[in-house]
Amino acid sequence: MNSTKTIGIIGGGQLGQMMAISAIYMGHKVITLDPSVDCPASRVSEVIVAAYDDVDALRELAERCDVLTYEFENVDADGLDTVVAGTQLPQGTDLLRISQNRITEKDFLSQKAGVAVAPYKVVTSSADLDKIDLSKKQVLKTATGGYDGHGQVVISSQTDLVKARKLADLTVCVLEEFVTFDLEISVLVSGNGADFTVFPVQENIHHNNILSKTIAPARISDHLAKKAKLMALQIAKRLDLSGTLCVEMFVTADDIIVNEIAPRPHNSGHYSIEACNFSQFDTHILGILGQPLPEIYQHAPAVMLNVLGQHVKAAQAYVQNNPSAHLHLYGKLEAKHNRKMGHVTLFSEKPDEVEEF
Ligand code: AMP
Repeated sequence: MNSTKTIGIIGGGQLGQMMAISAIYMGHKVITLDPSVDCPASRVSEVIVAAYDDVDALRELAERCDVLTYEFENVDADGLDTVVAGTQLPQGTDLLRISQNRITEKDFLSQKAGVAVAPYKVVTSSADLDKIDLSKKQVLKTATGGYDGHGQVVISSQTDLVKARKLADLTVCVLEEFVTFDLEISVLVSGNGADFTVFPVQENIHHNNILSKTIAPARISDHLAKKAKLMALQIAKRLDLSGTLCVEMFVTADDIIVNEIAPRPHNSGHYSIEACNFSQFDTHILGILGQPLPEIYQHAPAVMLNVLGQHVKAAQAYVQNNPSAHLHLYGKLEAKHNRKMGHVTLFSEKPDEVEEF
């Protein structure tokens, strides 16, 4: 039996690149679809250079590959449906539709998966904000297209409300209660359509809404860590998940609230490459191929630091002085401000002492 497959990845950024690396050392061949000829995945795969919603290019990818996957959720789900044959996309397009829109995502999480989310309501125009109670902090988020804090307004004053009203008149939004959390965590879970495996809970520290540092395992009680993992598994089961999914959550004094899901490996899981027996990319590939999934264990406590465009020199200097730290650079040609260029993973029992770049 020839178990070597050709895997097509929609998106050739760093996540596509790291998925491809896992697939390649398992013996598979990879073709990616990306608008940029020198995208990170071009270092390790053939690239079909085209826009993500180019249906002819998607068709070519589907025809040339046994299995398809994606590295980000804003893929044209309708376009994919027209080209995908049978079970060629194990993750399915329903998962894409759920995670592309905060309304479908929150409805799914609260009503179908049965996990706690911040109380929310749909806002279709500024009139829906007329009776807002400004004594309670809230956050307005665009239903689609938001990322890393873009398309969001925290509302606690009249000035904020003016901004929020403008946003609400531009596009459909979700108004959420502001959660006073102790920390932000995420949990990765992988599935092969039938069985699931879950990673340690990760603690995430953001700056300007961009992930800066991940500490794994998260510094939370065993009770809350168990609860967070069970919630991630519950979501995965409800989705009949294939591949890797990341669940982002808030930890309050005594509870866990789900913020959002990403139907793919996630920046907060990069530490798993060195720190776990299998990485989030390994289990993604195993999962979409319907292979058995290993139980995950972590070798030692780890810290991941993101390397943005402005941090590349500091990161290179850091590994000169700390040779046991692993520097990953994704091969992006231009180091723009706030652009994710790479990351550093190191083992540390004292995560507070590991300074961000
Ligand atoms: P998101 O785009 O939903 O991941 O939000 C970006 C960041 O905004 C999160 O990582 C949180 O730090 C913060 N945030 C989002 N929603 C809430 C909320 N309901 N309450 C408090 N902080 C929030």
